[in-house]
Amino acid sequence: MGWPILYTEQPPATKAPPTVVCYICGREFGTKSIGIHEPQCLKKWHLENDRLPKNLQRPEPKKPEVRTIGAKGSYDLVALNEAAWHSAQSQLVACDICERTFLPDRLLVHQRSCKPKKTK
Ligand SMILES: [Zn+2]
Ligand SMILES: [Zn+2]
Repeated sequence: MGWPILYTEQPPATKAPPTVVCYICGREFGTKSIGIHEPQCLKKWHLENDRLPKNLQRPEPKKPEVRTIGAKGSYDLVALNEAAWHSAQSQLVACDICERTFLPDRLLVHQRSCKPKKTK
């Protein structure tokens, strides 16, 4: 009696676990942690937004709605993440001197050192 032959298979989890992009900060989170992160992130967003000068305050980011695609009613995660990423990008404010984009609180720090080019 020999040992049964075991065929080693490719491990099924070679793919990275799905991540969801936060529509507020644009960072990626696991499907479980996004639910915890989002309300906290929105709270933080409001705190920071309230501290900003009026001209840099933004309307509250809206969670992008992506219609379920596919017969099984599963989320199209790629489309959802793309929409979330764009939403997060729209939070950025362009520096009116160098035109680079920053988060508003970063912009304030940046503008202290950003000098307009001397034009003659
Ligand atoms: Zn976030
Ligand atoms: Zn600048």
